[in-house]
Amino acid sequence: MAATYNFNFDTTYTSLPKQFFTRLQPDHVEYPRIVNINYKLAEEIGVNLNSTTQKDLSNLFSGNDLPDGSTPLSQAYAGHQFGYFTMLGDGRAHLLGEHITPNGIRLDVQFKGSGKTPYSRSGDGKAALGPMIREYLISEAMHNLGIPTTRSLAIITTGQEVRRETLLPGAILTRLASSHIRVGTFEFAANHENKDLLEALLDYTIKRHYPEVLDYPNKAIGLIENIMEKQADLIVHWMRVGFIHGVMNTDNMTLSGETIDYGPCAFMDNYDPNTFFSSIDRGGRYSFMNQPLIAQWNLARLIEALIPLIDNNFDNAVNLGEKLIDQFPVIYQQKWLSMMRSKLGLYGDQPEDQMLIKDLFEWMHNNDADFTNTFRDLSESIKPTEKIYQVSSFQNWHNQWKQRLQKNNKPWDTSASMMRTSNPFIIPRNHQVERIINAAANGDLEYFRDFLDVLQNPYKTDNKLESYRTPPGPRERIYQTFCGT
Ligand code: AMP
Ligand code: MG
Repeated sequence: MAATYNFNFDTTYTSLPKQFFTRLQPDHVEYPRIVNINYKLAEEIGVNLNSTTQKDLSNLFSGNDLPDGSTPLSQAYAGHQFGYFTMLGDGRAHLLGEHITPNGIRLDVQFKGSGKTPYSRSGDGKAALGPMIREYLISEAMHNLGIPTTRSLAIITTGQEVRRETLLPGAILTRLASSHIRVGTFEFAANHENKDLLEALLDYTIKRHYPEVLDYPNKAIGLIENIMEKQADLIVHWMRVGFIHGVMNTDNMTLSGETIDYGPCAFMDNYDPNTFFSSIDRGGRYSFMNQPLIAQWNLARLIEALIPLIDNNFDNAVNLGEKLIDQFPVIYQQKWLSMMRSKLGLYGDQPEDQMLIKDLFEWMHNNDADFTNTFRDLSESIKPTEKIYQVSSFQNWHNQWKQRLQKNNKPWDTSASMMRTSNPFIIPRNHQVERIINAAANGDLEYFRDFLDVLQNPYKTDNKLESYRTPPGPRERIYQTFCGT
């Protein structure tokens, strides 16, 4: 008999019309081996992994032994990929079910890399170890940075090779998410031109994520307003830590407001607003500075999908939809400015704030200054002593900043502690992530585990970790990241 591991499944997705999913089993895995298990996360969500053998766990996280109560399925969705609409779906993922934690939180438990589905198109349904390590490492780092994200519970290797540009070890990631409802799920429903489908998804999403909207006079508008807030918050977090998602297609934007799908994502080293890493992102559609614009573009696709539910009169609906989307830059800008003030230790609202921020970014860009370290250096000491700051262009800016700090009417220490909760000491730098992935592919998991440990407390000053703060040297710089799908 299959063990329960205290999974507490109560899966509601299957209450949606049948078009939204296909029930099916993950592939059998011949030689599953554990790469890493997130015991701390398991404990947090009330899952017991301690009273069993490693062999049992490798069978659990490969899908060979499904826990009691699971009802595996793959979800259907669509999406705009680099601007073009496509019908998609979980091409290599199986949702085991919705687990209810002891605190009553509902979480999707999903395998990624677990075999072909009706939505696989030309894909093999598999995942390679490297990209799954990237997702595990960065999603956990994002969580510890205080940024909404899917989580990673386990990685196993399958013992089978997957063919990409070369043959690579196959792996399965177990991912947790508040849900996997995406902008693309609404586009999928809208594409059927069947109002009942759309309405069913709207009601489901509201009940699951925004129950307060049930009381709104117009539920579609209520949902859109709430999601705009959530997405603005999320992008502001990304901009705060220099995170570049890399594939902000509408199928990779959740309605819960969690970061999802860590394909070619990376953190920026030296500040350049045009930075992008993804090998498939020609033209930098998803560059650092474009992220808020793309979020707005994606939300416009969500609103388009919801037009039939915004108003029965098409013209009225479009009008209302346009008014809503025009609000996004206003909402975003206000949240961004408040985040930037916290990065610079500024209290209150002064007319010179925007210029002060702009001037610093300009200086950073012109001087190849490291994004993370510049803000952290300013948080550690009001007068940073590193060589890069000993130039008159920085001194000029620094004088203006000090004058602005005086208007806080608060001691420097108060500003500094706010700054140290906004400006991380440690981020998963891309050259280190690549080194860890390469080592792991050769069977050496020590760096991976060490780095996971280091990333537990990203805001804590710890001078022993100085080596993790060092930006890549010229020969270590990574210019391109790959999805690896
Ligand atoms: P992603 O870029 O990971 O968000 O994937 C985009 C779409 O392609 C999703 O529908 C995935 O399920 C699908 N996909 C990605 N890789 C594979 C694969 N190896 N086999 C089948 N489907 C895949
Ligand atoms: Mg995706």
